[in-house]
Amino acid sequence: MEQSITELQPRLTEHFAKLVDTNKLAHAYLFSGPRGTGKNKLAHWVAQAVFCQNKTAGYPCLKCNDCRRISQNNQPDVVEIKPDGASIKVEQIRYLKSEFVKSGIEGNRKLFIIQNAEKMTTSAANSLLKFLEEPSGDVTAFLLTDSLNQILPTIVSRCQLVELSSLTTKKMINKLVGLGVTPEKANLLAHLTNSQKEASELEQDEEFTQLLAHLWEWFNQVLRNDWRAFVGVQTKLMPYATDNERQERLIQLILLLTRDILLLKYGKNEDVAFIMYSEELSQRNLNISESGAIRAVEAVLSTKRQRAVNVSFQNVLEALTLNLCSWYQE
Ligand SMILES: [Zn+2]
Repeated sequence: MEQSITELQPRLTEHFAKLVDTNKLAHAYLFSGPRGTGKNKLAHWVAQAVFCQNKTAGYPCLKCNDCRRISQNNQPDVVEIKPDGASIKVEQIRYLKSEFVKSGIEGNRKLFIIQNAEKMTTSAANSLLKFLEEPSGDVTAFLLTDSLNQILPTIVSRCQLVELSSLTTKKMINKLVGLGVTPEKANLLAHLTNSQKEASELEQDEEFTQLLAHLWEWFNQVLRNDWRAFVGVQTKLMPYATDNERQERLIQLILLLTRDILLLKYGKNEDVAFIMYSEELSQRNLNISESGAIRAVEAVLSTKRQRAVNVSFQNVLEALTLNLCSWYQE
């Protein structure tokens, strides 16, 4: 039988039951975690807890009319948005807003759930941001994602982040360590891929190991605003980026580096991907402004999008290098 969310995430359901019971739900939550950790189930469970007619200490009965309608996605005060094709479009966010502007259909309390929030286009994200900044009435938003590092930092900063623990990630790190991978490298690989097969292949891949050394050299130059970083794109990074998959992996690694800078700034050391460099990154961090660190992450994210357009990958990386240099000196 399928595991219930109270079995899958007992601590989190208890936490949210308390919030519902004391009427302390925040305006926006970001549920982050790999597939299978129960993000969607948890959002629906909290919605049931809010609307249930027979709740006990914040726990929904799961049997009443409201509980049943929410589990069937058939409760007008709980609105759900999913990607329409490859992305969540600004029209969908506008629809969502209009739903909430309508006077309370069955009461004033309203919840919305955005699946795959990382798939929002920039204009959709900006439209949502305005909404999150001026929440109208008694509204709670649940943004769900399995790719936290692809969500705009401006969105992350408006939400309470709830990370759903992934046994699979921890298991993967343990397995890799069991195979002789250092804990630091295992942690990095687990941040880079959800597939243990791919992680093991990367660990064996000498070109990948060499890329990591070159990437670190390049990133150090970026942080020092050293002009050699620009040249390094061609000599250090491009030799690895021979196909689409490798190009994507390279951008993902740069994203993790810029994200680590931001995480260290917020004191979230436990989430860092490049543990082996965290001391050096922390030291460099002292001179970087918070807005510069945020813009650096956004620059890498927009590079990801540009790649869809037909621009030479080297040009993309060179432009990114200049951008990063300037944000980190801001
Ligand atoms: Zn109920």
